[in-house]
Amino acid sequence: MSTDPHCIFCKIIENVIPSSRVYEDDEVLVFKDIHPSAPVHLLVIPKRHITGLSAVQAADQQVLGKMMLVASQVAKDAGSTDGFRTIINDGRVGRQDVFHLHMHVLGGPTPLGRMIAMDDKT
Ligand code: 5GP
Ligand code: ZN
Repeated sequence: MSTDPHCIFCKIIENVIPSSRVYEDDEVLVFKDIHPSAPVHLLVIPKRHITGLSAVQAADQQVLGKMMLVASQVAKDAGSTDGFRTIINDGRVGRQDVFHLHMHVLGGPTPLGRMIAMDDKT
């Protein structure tokens, strides 16, 4: 399993940094975001270190599919039975902060804001 010793999400996978885990299998881990942006805010990550969505390759197809399946299940298990949102931020324009691929799963109960806001900051 490929890991990056400087990556905080690799450290979460290895339990060096504690997290509130909600799902785990051989390929994927899901834990609660430390600074939730919605009542449900989970992060779905591959256990293998992949820097971001722009870096994925054909060999990652299986784990990418797994992330989607797991996102659907954990969202419903967390109470988001009436819908939720997934977000993958990538790179500078996508405002990615942690360079280990992760899918945000965000849920209500009340409806979320519509899509995104543009940012004047450079
Ligand atoms: P990004 O901006 O890269 O899409 O999202 C990174 C997310 O990781 C942020 O929502 C942030 O709150 C979350 N995060 C950063 N460090 C930690 C941590 O140590 N533990 C947990 N649970 N979440 C973290
Ligand atoms: Zn990593």
